[in-house]
Amino acid sequence: MEIYDLTAHELADLLQRGEMTSEEVTGAIFQRIHDVEPDIQAYVTITEEQAYEAARQVDGERRQGKDLPYLAGVPAGLKDVLCTRGIRTTCSSRMLEHFIPPYSATVVEKLAAAGAVFTGKLNMDEFAMGSSTENSAFFPTHNPWDLSRVPGGSSGGPAAAVAAGEAPYALGTDTGGSIRQPASLCGIVGLKPTYGLVSRYGMVAFASSLDQIGPMTKDVRDCALVLNLIAGYDPLDSTSAPGAGLGAVPDYTAFLTGEIRGLRIGVPREFFGDGLDSAVAEAVKASLGKLAGLGAVVDECSFPHAEYSVPCYYLIAPAEASSNLARYDGVHYGYRAVAENGGAYDLMEMYTNTRSQGFGAEVKRRIMLGTYALSSGYYDAYYLQALKLRTLIRDDFNRLFDQFDAIVSPTSPTPPFRLGEKSDDPLSMYLSDVYTIPVNLAGIPAISIPCGYTDGLPVGLQLMGPVFSEGTLLRIAHAFEQDTPYHQDRAPLKRGHAAVSPAGREGGDSHGRL
Ligand code: GLN
Repeated sequence: MEIYDLTAHELADLLQRGEMTSEEVTGAIFQRIHDVEPDIQAYVTITEEQAYEAARQVDGERRQGKDLPYLAGVPAGLKDVLCTRGIRTTCSSRMLEHFIPPYSATVVEKLAAAGAVFTGKLNMDEFAMGSSTENSAFFPTHNPWDLSRVPGGSSGGPAAAVAAGEAPYALGTDTGGSIRQPASLCGIVGLKPTYGLVSRYGMVAFASSLDQIGPMTKDVRDCALVLNLIAGYDPLDSTSAPGAGLGAVPDYTAFLTGEIRGLRIGVPREFFGDGLDSAVAEAVKASLGKLAGLGAVVDECSFPHAEYSVPCYYLIAPAEASSNLARYDGVHYGYRAVAENGGAYDLMEMYTNTRSQGFGAEVKRRIMLGTYALSSGYYDAYYLQALKLRTLIRDDFNRLFDQFDAIVSPTSPTPPFRLGEKSDDPLSMYLSDVYTIPVNLAGIPAISIPCGYTDGLPVGLQLMGPVFSEGTLLRIAHAFEQDTPYHQDRAPLKRGHAAVSPAGREGGDSHGRL
């Protein structure tokens, strides 16, 4: 295996044993970035200089015998929705194309304090709205398993970067599936934590009652290690939980025992109905057999309100987005439209031109949907109904968790689809998150892990648990992983044929970056 193929914990061990310096590891990752980035296009901004500086700092401290956090000196990528002080944070939107935040997100501060070496900012669907990363205002990212296919979204940049060896691990965000679905499509591990476990301070808001930040990694141990670093109370986020449920945030690696005998796992039959690709269903069913083989008690169950999740989400998320995105008015910060020929816009023209030029089509669609659902006369008929459905969906989960320790489903109904395949059909794109959305609506944690292949493309298995059950989910995921080879496989960067050729990238250097 090459250096860029190693997990974060394998790299940490090399650093600890003095077999490599952080500068050398960082060099290997940037070499990989330069080699494959023209094909993958995962990065919006590469911060090579700052990375070497951070790496040398860690190396210096290690030479002085300082007691360093375990992952100190290991490179990491950040989804471009996370604010980084002094480094452009675009949300893959024209609106924030030149936005340089004056502060960093809490998770960024926490990783930096643990000695992380940041490689750069990773591509995403604009404002995290999408399931393919094709909604990026800059360029689409390509799936390392087949370059003609999407990496999923909205955290397609982080997923592709980790799968292609361009970052040992990354942070993504998940509002309706954006960590888990791309993790599934790129054959990596992705965890959406319980709402409130990880601070959202400094994450550009999409739908605040649903958004969470989480790890995207090559294996389950890395996922536990990164969660250790980012979980915990933050006074700067008013929705931050005081601890992890009843107590302090635990050491999540303590759950990786390999032992899952007697754990009760539920399989909702509604998650295996229409729209599920048959090869994906096969791979997931085979995984259920493996879990049973490890001693788990696997039983069928019912999730009666499953079919309402997507419509419910597509009222609540756009409603919150329409409110959150009102701040991009051309006045406070971000893009401002200016009149041509030295003329001047009046205030209303400035607002409307700024927003019509600064936002892409999907973002505008969400703002219109949300504004409509919240407007007088429609609020009761749409938004309020959606809130009620949200309660019913949460109740479904609560009932199931009286009976089961975890619930299992496919992560995505299909393997990675071709670039362009769903671009003109928002509804079919929305259905890509049919199994992940209920989790955000209920605020519970869920993890996606690789569980097989169909035609050489990765398939993901989703494990969901009650609030603050990250430990149990990681335990099951780890036991499954120890029993299967998928986490050791690396993407082949195979060339295929896109459904339509992806839209040309506007501007940018030869790598398409801006
Ligand atoms: N694909 C879903 C959407 O477009 C979820 C996105 C996300 O989790 N950020 O809203």
